[in-house]
Amino acid sequence: MMPQVTHHIPEEMVQAYVTGALPHAFSVVVAAHLSLCDTCRAAAEAFEAVGGIALETLPAPTGDGADMTELRARTLAALDTLPDAAPEPRPVAPYPAAVMAELGNRPPRWKSLGAGIRQTILSHGPEGSVRLLSIPGGKAVPDHGHNGLEMTLVLQGAFSDHTGRYGPGDVQVAETDIEHVPTAEPGPDCICLAATDAPLRFAALVPRMLQGVFRI
Ligand SMILES: [Zn+2]
Repeated sequence: MMPQVTHHIPEEMVQAYVTGALPHAFSVVVAAHLSLCDTCRAAAEAFEAVGGIALETLPAPTGDGADMTELRARTLAALDTLPDAAPEPRPVAPYPAAVMAELGNRPPRWKSLGAGIRQTILSHGPEGSVRLLSIPGGKAVPDHGHNGLEMTLVLQGAFSDHTGRYGPGDVQVAETDIEHVPTAEPGPDCICLAATDAPLRFAALVPRMLQGVFRI
């Protein structure tokens, strides 16, 4: 059953994803959301169609058209890597295909962050990192703000903060100015896929020390 999604990917990010302009960490989250959300997948397909038409009408490369040829090839390659249109039958177990690919088709190797919170880093680089986070039902994640952009997709359970409630399939995009305390709903562990483009800035001292250890 497809989850009931109420929080979607901003349209500009879907467009950036389709053209291959999105950093890898964020493209993993977008791909996972598209596999769970008919609305955003339709938007991606619309952008893809428009992009395809524009590419087909580009003039043939002439003597100094090497840059355009390369751009065209890169864009077409990006379009080829779009996920299949068919929705996945089971959104959570196993994880969406985009997440399984990051995991090398193996189960997550969880590392404890204390207080029952666990994470598995999927990829980590200068452009951003993407991880799975597991938060026990009823628990809060330490108060933190962001130096950049954080994009969180709920895969299981739900969390809430002052901006609303996020259940399976929902995406939260948090900008630099948001200081928030996400709290998992009572019940099963809340498992999220989270991409960040800069280290999080934790408000309390101890989590800030842990930040170095766990690259959170
Ligand atoms: Zn959506």
